[in-house]
Amino acid sequence: MISTLRHIVQRVSQANTVEQAMAELVQLTRSAMQTDCCSLYLVESGSLLLSATEGLSADAVGRSRLKWGEGVVGLVAQREEPINLADAPKHKAFKLLPEAQEEAYRAFLAVPVIHRREALGVLVVQQKIARQFSEEEESFLVTLASQLAPQLRDRTLTRAQDPQSLVFPGLVAAEGIAIAPARLARPKLDLVQPAIESEDPELEWDRIERALLVTNEELAELGGRLSDEVAAELGVLFDCYQALLTDPQLRQSLQACVSEGWQAETAVSKVVCQYVGQFESMSDEYFRQRAADIRELGQRLLDQLARPGLASSAPEHPVILVAKEITAPMLAEIPRDKLAGIISIKGGVNSHAAILARAMGLPALVAVEGVRIDELADKTLVVDGLEGRLWIEPTDEVVRAFRSLEKGLEARSERFRRQLARPCVSADGQPVTLLLNAGLTSEERVLAKPGISGIGLYRTEALFMAFNQFPTEQQQERVYRRLLERADGKVVTVRTLDVGGDKPLPYLPIREDNPFLGWRGVRLSLDHPDLFLSQIRALLRAADGMDNLKIMVPMISRLEEIQSCRRLLEQAVNELTEELGRPVTAPPMGIMVEVPAALFQLGRWWQWLDFASVGSNDLTQYLLAVDRNNAQVSASFDSFHPSMVAALDQIAQQSKGKELGLCGELAGEVLGALMLLTLGYRQLSMNTQSLGAIHYLIENLNLSSLPSLRERLLSQADGEAVRQCLMAHLVEIGHPELVPGSTR
Ligand code: PEP
Ligand code: MG
Repeated sequence: MISTLRHIVQRVSQANTVEQAMAELVQLTRSAMQTDCCSLYLVESGSLLLSATEGLSADAVGRSRLKWGEGVVGLVAQREEPINLADAPKHKAFKLLPEAQEEAYRAFLAVPVIHRREALGVLVVQQKIARQFSEEEESFLVTLASQLAPQLRDRTLTRAQDPQSLVFPGLVAAEGIAIAPARLARPKLDLVQPAIESEDPELEWDRIERALLVTNEELAELGGRLSDEVAAELGVLFDCYQALLTDPQLRQSLQACVSEGWQAETAVSKVVCQYVGQFESMSDEYFRQRAADIRELGQRLLDQLARPGLASSAPEHPVILVAKEITAPMLAEIPRDKLAGIISIKGGVNSHAAILARAMGLPALVAVEGVRIDELADKTLVVDGLEGRLWIEPTDEVVRAFRSLEKGLEARSERFRRQLARPCVSADGQPVTLLLNAGLTSEERVLAKPGISGIGLYRTEALFMAFNQFPTEQQQERVYRRLLERADGKVVTVRTLDVGGDKPLPYLPIREDNPFLGWRGVRLSLDHPDLFLSQIRALLRAADGMDNLKIMVPMISRLEEIQSCRRLLEQAVNELTEELGRPVTAPPMGIMVEVPAALFQLGRWWQWLDFASVGSNDLTQYLLAVDRNNAQVSASFDSFHPSMVAALDQIAQQSKGKELGLCGELAGEVLGALMLLTLGYRQLSMNTQSLGAIHYLIENLNLSSLPSLRERLLSQADGEAVRQCLMAHLVEIGHPELVPGSTR
């Protein structure tokens, strides 16, 4: 059997054209299976086109089509599973293709051709007599289809490829397909500019006036586009920007500066720096904080002067945002419905921008090699977030091929979304808690689904980043209250501020040689109990009258940090009790297990904790000493590394009978979730896009049969072997469709 398979795969790969490859495939398969007919249908423009046959009429090739879900062939593509019928015409979905001269056939076996979760087509064998194809025959065809899928995908795309279009490899940060024009994001300019003279003050003033006008319009638009959660707070900020831009005194100072003979950029730089200095030296805290707003305004004005009109207004059509390094604020600048995808030349798949892209459901590539950003403006791009490729100015045929892939993916996501209408219970009746990772995006719709138990990680950094100074206690309280109310009784785990590392706050510059090993998370919070307390108090006030809040502290590495956080929580509870004149109860407090030091101490720490959640992103980064953002070492960032398996197992073993979960990206990957369930984790928190697939996985898993898999996982020598073990298990339990193409 294996040699027959190998022979067919080899012959197909040696064919010169895609037509020849498909012809070889059907011919060799028919003879290997000793059947009367073999045909291949390929997905094209959302339907299934008869693309090669040995047994049906040759005239029907390239003409006979079945819609998605139409006929038994369409059903196989839609369900992504084989159908084996002794007498196909008796099946209620059967649709005869008269032009293909199909009348003579009765026995029917069709398998989907799936590559990296994407249905490419259907491979069918038919026979004149009525009989059921055997299990071996079925398994042969399934294996053949899976082995040929990558070739078929490559060949059909290459056929449609014009030599002039360019293809660049990148890492998939968020899966999916995006087809749209490129839009270059604007990096911020330095406020301090060289002093340059000009001989034309009138021209310079015109330039400044135009920059003021455009910046004003731009800010008005931005203010209207924020997510509901932060809109109310930031609206004030945007009003304040606009007031500054139209401030007569600012205009006078700028005008005076250009009249003295300075170029527009120099005038903006001088005047704004002067303003910033004045505000920074004010004794009133409120005015001191306005300095940051003025700095931001100055940078926007400089940007307008440098590149008038570039990326200044919201795009009219969806675009693919391209930047050297995408940041969260860059994403926030474009309305969600106008963002089709993301290309970041730098960055890793676990950078925060990548996490945000996944949470927003935006196909994204990072670490794209060899591309020159400035040559991309307005060019049509295809983000192939399945294979990890960027296509520049692809041909119409390539675009058509990707559009049809896109349709298939949408259908799959829709199916997964429907999953969430049911509570999350395994095939053998064990409940699993599925939670959502949230932050910048509004997640209400999915949160209401019965399959989701609440929010397992609410990253408050996004909120802090959206402001231009630390949000006040009242501002935070309003945001948290809305969040808790919208959860409608479901639990919301809010993580205290985790800035530092790759998440700097624009208004808290931290200069360190090793930011990931520096002033991050709880370290910063405990050095600034004022900030920490104001966040805790805002949370307690917001949760007053509700009991769905949990507080989680990031980056814990010492018991003393847990104790200090507990003390501060107690202090905030006492203060509030006094203020309100009635008892306030402390919400459950837990930690993130993400620094390797926690691995060996967790057992001892549990008496201080109500719950814990593993942060697999940072745990992988710190355990393997691999920067999660560095594309250069991204191949070594492997959450399936045997040391990670051992670490995750050790954490679970120390936490029996305790509330333990995991909220890193690993929980949202099919293989990751399978590994975690095997190691005993029963609380998984992930981004919206992954919930459906993981729910489906759990519904099809027999959790009580996993202990033997645990033994196997713990005995593997490298990450790839761990993944292979997990994939083999999915095939063994009859769910090969869950085997992901991506090895991330
Ligand atoms: C983690 O480290 O796994 C985690 C969930 O936190 P973040 O990605 O925000 O650092
Ligand atoms: Mg972390």
